[in-house]
Amino acid sequence: MDTLLTRTLSVGSVGTDVDGIKRTVYRGLDSYDKGQRLKKHMGNKLAVRRTYGTFFASDVNRLKVRMGWTQNGKVEPAFFTAMSQRGYPDALAVDLLTRYAKAHPRIQIYYPFPYGEMGGVCQGLHETAGIDDNWAIDFCARPHTTVVAVEAGTITKLSGRSPNDDTWDTQGVYGWSVHFLTNEGYRYYVTHFGYRQPLSIGMRVEAGDTIGKVGDQRFRPDHVHYGCSSPRGDADAKARITAVSKAPRII
Ligand SMILES: [Zn+2]
Repeated sequence: MDTLLTRTLSVGSVGTDVDGIKRTVYRGLDSYDKGQRLKKHMGNKLAVRRTYGTFFASDVNRLKVRMGWTQNGKVEPAFFTAMSQRGYPDALAVDLLTRYAKAHPRIQIYYPFPYGEMGGVCQGLHETAGIDDNWAIDFCARPHTTVVAVEAGTITKLSGRSPNDDTWDTQGVYGWSVHFLTNEGYRYYVTHFGYRQPLSIGMRVEAGDTIGKVGDQRFRPDHVHYGCSSPRGDADAKARITAVSKAPRII
């Protein structure tokens, strides 16, 4: 089962998921003590229910001991799964956790090359010539290595060598290029493809989808130049493409 708890909760956490977890933990404690913990909890103010304080951490520890877990004051996704197996979350708790998960989607980021392909960073952060505020990292690999979309997005532009031109000699340094935009507003520019997937403007790509293959540039290192611009500025763009260079490979 894919857990509804999308983050580890601890003292200081605030959110709808904390409220859902509080209901779950109090129902768990009530199942042992035949107590009135949940009823008492429901009498509290909303602001208090959404906040993970030290008192709640001690309640979590009490339940953890009962269930044979180590006391650490935290609710991890695995502990939530264990509570689910015992039926502690009620429908309202599940609803609160589902709402939190929807409002805070986990962003999936992948490395440009899939698992099983060789290749890695061969030039660190540098600005893309010709596109303002676009920060790139070069990923070197053997010609024809598969390249994926590092995040989900929409294709905004296709450029570079004409797909009808299959003369390698005219490929030059650029090859084919793909531009795509994510929901969060990141604009990616990927270039030096020797082969590009049959993509079209407006097409949706999911994180990990193949978008092309590394070119064969003969006299220079073969690589893709993966650049990112952010509506939140240069520092954010640099952080994002750096995160891409450290992301897991899609399997
Ligand atoms: Zn580059």
